[in-house]
Amino acid sequence: MVISDMYIRKGDFVKIISGDDAGKTGKIKSVLRQKGKIVVEGINFVLKHLKPSKENPKGGRIQIEASMDASNALLICQNKSCKKYNNGVRIRMKFLEDKKKVRTCVSCGYELISTE
Ligand SMILES: [Zn+2]
Repeated sequence: MVISDMYIRKGDFVKIISGDDAGKTGKIKSVLRQKGKIVVEGINFVLKHLKPSKENPKGGRIQIEASMDASNALLICQNKSCKKYNNGVRIRMKFLEDKKKVRTCVSCGYELISTE
């Protein structure tokens, strides 16, 4: 599923809702829109094997964050008076007077803003 720019963006804070990292939160590092996937800082680490190179003649292994399905994450509401504060929430699109679209928390109506 292709992800719309309206729903999830780089810099968004999300809560992971399924898989080994369920319950953790993190910031989105990148969005692979065509694949419907996201990469979240500190979530879903996998070991990557490196081929020997000039800098690293023996090769080795490093931990990197692997992409995951965007449906495994929910945006976090940052409105302190929301009953879902700091939790994953469903979002709703809202049209402003100037026809700009914003994402709001279904629970409290607070606008969800990306950090980037
Ligand atoms: Zn809220």
